[in-house]
Amino acid sequence: MTTLLGCIADDFTGATDLAGLLARSGVRVSLRIGVPSEPPSETAAFEVIALKCRTAPVAEAVADCRAAFAWLKNAGAQRFFWKYCSTFDSTEEGNIGPVAEALMADLGVQQTIYCPAFPENGRSIFMGNLFVGQQPLAESPMKDHPLTPMKDSNLMRLLAPQVTGTTGLVDRLTVARGAADIGVALARLADDGVAHVVVDAVADADLQEIATACRDMPLLTGGSALAMPLPSLYAQDGKLEVDGAKAEPPLIEPGAIVLSGSCSAMTRAQVASYAKDAPSYRLDPLVLARDGAGAALDWLATQSPDAAPIIYATAKPEDVRAAQAELGTAQAGEVVEAALAKFAIAARDRGTRRFVVAGGETSGAVTQALGVSRLDIGAEIAPGVPWTFCESGGHQIALALKSGNFGTEDFFGTALAKLEN
Ligand code: ADP
Repeated sequence: MTTLLGCIADDFTGATDLAGLLARSGVRVSLRIGVPSEPPSETAAFEVIALKCRTAPVAEAVADCRAAFAWLKNAGAQRFFWKYCSTFDSTEEGNIGPVAEALMADLGVQQTIYCPAFPENGRSIFMGNLFVGQQPLAESPMKDHPLTPMKDSNLMRLLAPQVTGTTGLVDRLTVARGAADIGVALARLADDGVAHVVVDAVADADLQEIATACRDMPLLTGGSALAMPLPSLYAQDGKLEVDGAKAEPPLIEPGAIVLSGSCSAMTRAQVASYAKDAPSYRLDPLVLARDGAGAALDWLATQSPDAAPIIYATAKPEDVRAAQAELGTAQAGEVVEAALAKFAIAARDRGTRRFVVAGGETSGAVTQALGVSRLDIGAEIAPGVPWTFCESGGHQIALALKSGNFGTEDFFGTALAKLEN
């Protein structure tokens, strides 16, 4: 089928989040990990390519996204969605603006919008400022993120150093007046040469109006929630047949593991809650860097997959800072990611078939290690986190890839229970 919307996500959990929300409408969504080396075949109406470029050097991120764009264009896509995190996760050196500008150049368009709002998960934008729950982004736990500490909440200010074009805003007062007024405001900004427009949204109804106004823009950028209304809008426009039929999820053998490399506040609560009842092993980046992952692998070898053990590097901000001071930020992240990737393979080879992974970067490292290249999207566990099904090492496995602050405190247990039904 010709692809209607080609999506590029800057990390793996972002991609599954987006794919899950698009799949809510009943349409078939295909998620590919990395740019496929083969030309498009058997494509779905909604194709999502997951990259691992959130914190990559700008030139590398732009090149990766351009390659993904070219593949999706080849698949027939005429509209594109650049998906990044609902907490923006992009400092002055970030890639959101540069990638958007590169895709705009490839498409020959003069304007795009930026809307990371995800009201269901407490991410809203008002007067260009991003909020996490009731806190401005820069006062939220995101200020301590290991890789992208967010020190400003204003999206225009965050974007300005990343782009060469002018930034602007369509504020909530306009959005509240509906799609037609949003369209007029965007056209006015375009006349003034404003290329990069942040759009306020505090509720799903706002996103519906924004999607309605912008559904035919060749490039949209934002969080997954902005894309959610698109399938039914395309159906209304006669571009897409939405049939409710979804493929039956495959039967996945038991044996589970939870791997957590996320240090986000919600993940810390989730790890604490799950480790109360499950066998658990805490990783120390300093020990990993010094002695390798042998001790943890030995521990894992003594655990029954049926007990669904958890291995985590999840730590408090002060512990993260201490490890980073000793090893350097990148190195601290890399030793943890490499170790968790190793444990995933070891667990699979011991019969584990159900994997819950916490952390965007962490999920990227784990999926890469498991050699997964294409995922089918299954049932949603929490807003933005579906179970996904794929093949690894000749086995059918299930993967739940959760980015930092998603899910409630009981997420790990809930995810595993959901697969039982
Ligand atoms: P999130 O989705 O919460 O942002 P990520 O996996 O994307 O989680 O990012 C967390 C990063 O922090 C990863 O690179 C991970 O390897 C790193 N990390 C995890 N635990 C520690 C720790 N104890 N000290 C330093 N860095 C850590």
